Amino acid sequence: MVHFVGAGSGAADLITVRGARLLEEADVVIYAGSLVNPALLEYTKPGCEIHNSAQMTLEQVLDVVKAAEAAGKTTVRLHTGDSSIYGAVREQFDQLEALGVEYDVCPGVSSFCGAAASLRAEYTLPDVSQSVIITRAAGRTPVPDRESLRSFAAHQATMVLFLSAGLADKVREDLLAGGYPPETPAAVVYKATWPDEMILRCTVDTLPETIGAGNIKKTALIIVGDCMGDKYLRSRLYSPDFSTEFRKGTDDAEET
Ligand code: SAH
Repeated sequence: MVHFVGAGSGAADLITVRGARLLEEADVVIYAGSLVNPALLEYTKPGCEIHNSAQMTLEQVLDVVKAAEAAGKTTVRLHTGDSSIYGAVREQFDQLEALGVEYDVCPGVSSFCGAAASLRAEYTLPDVSQSVIITRAAGRTPVPDRESLRSFAAHQATMVLFLSAGLADKVREDLLAGGYPPETPAAVVYKATWPDEMILRCTVDTLPETIGAGNIKKTALIIVGDCMGDKYLRSRLYSPDFSTEFRKGTDDAEET
């Protein structure tokens, strides 16, 4: 049995209770060493076999899983954040299915959630943005043309860019060309929730200079949008005039 476990964004206690239990019980752990906090390995039991997938190919990962399965062992495949976001898990799922190996997935706190907490931000503010665009700049991994940053920028929604800190000039160019005003608030969060986390607040216009000054090259998110500004409407849900299934408001309507 293989358990894919989201390690969370960095801090070792941000793994889920289920994820920690699976780590405690695992006979074999394969962790994404380039991004997973090694402190998480302290959850493992003595004698647990540990592999760092940063130095392995997909084939080598599968070889470790196959050997574990043959010995009747339980494997945890530990991915950073939540494995559904740039986790390269689908190719593993498909290979395991072809091999007839049972697997399941335990979610984790993605870094975009860890960063929101560090920024004390709400990505979805009434009258500001009700959508979060999770994307990346095209780099060595291409992005389909129909998902260009420029086209997404036209929405001026909250945007979280993964894997793009090294492409800040292009990011600024596309965000401005697409429609964000240059003064739109932005933030760069380096190693969100890790002990050496760094938060740099700026605007779309000053993104490249900010990233350069912080000497940030990787393990960072770029967050853009007026959700980090100071104008918004208060929520209807907690407004005295708004009725819900659970609370009668002065408007006496039946909305949830
Ligand atoms: N599955 C992960 C993302 C893996 S892709 C998740 O859900 O967070 C790797 C990219 O994620 C990094 O290049 C960086 O852009 C981002 N990232 C991962 N952990 C981060 C952290 N603690 N702080 C900021 N960015 C992080």
